[in-house]
Amino acid sequence: MPAERDRQHKDAIARRGLMLVLSSPSGAGKTTLSRKLLEADPGIELSVSVTTRKQRSGEIDGRDYHFIDAQRFETMVKRGELLEWAQVFGHHYGTPRAPVEAALLSGHDILFDIDWQGTQQLREKADHDLVSVFVLPPSMPDLERRLRRRAQDSDEVIRARMATAAEEMSHWAEYDYVVINTDIDRAFAEVQTILAAERLKRERQTGLSDFVRRLQAQL
Ligand code: 5GP
Repeated sequence: MPAERDRQHKDAIARRGLMLVLSSPSGAGKTTLSRKLLEADPGIELSVSVTTRKQRSGEIDGRDYHFIDAQRFETMVKRGELLEWAQVFGHHYGTPRAPVEAALLSGHDILFDIDWQGTQQLREKADHDLVSVFVLPPSMPDLERRLRRRAQDSDEVIRARMATAAEEMSHWAEYDYVVINTDIDRAFAEVQTILAAERLKRERQTGLSDFVRRLQAQL
């Protein structure tokens, strides 16, 4: 579609944003899929969580996480400033509410890299806005290979990570969609397809009545 018509098409109908959650056991490719999606699609932005865990080298405060202390975290919970929160690997993680609500109202989609506990809370609080995708590895040996490639961990650490992965994977049936990451390009195309279809849902296209009224007025 030529650029001008593409713009007209996108501007034609006001839309409420959606919340896209990608969850997976670590090593299944969730981070790569998130990065590719954010690079390829200006209509979606990442929800930056707060966490009490230490900043890792290479991470940027405000881009990867907002790194805060336990006291500040507790205050945010008490004031209702978090949409969901959970304890993962002994640290607290949570999603700040305000940026999510602002994005949804302005028709922007938000991507969440959160675990199954957070996804359950979002489902309870914002089911209509939520689109949840679980990413599975094609096999356990494949997942183990990816974990080993990523970090120089000892056999014991790898075994512990594999056990955690099995536990995380047991939540697959709570998600709307499941993508098996045999090939990253194919898995990415599948996530894009899910997003494209969900954006077209009638109830998300809040400007449809106006649009149809304008069409009818042209008769
Ligand atoms: P990491 O410390 O390796 O960045 O993340 C550990 C786990 O915490 C990952 O499974 C990640 O998806 C999850 N996580 C990160 N941010 C949040 C959050 O705001 N809420 C919840 N529930 N989980 C999160």
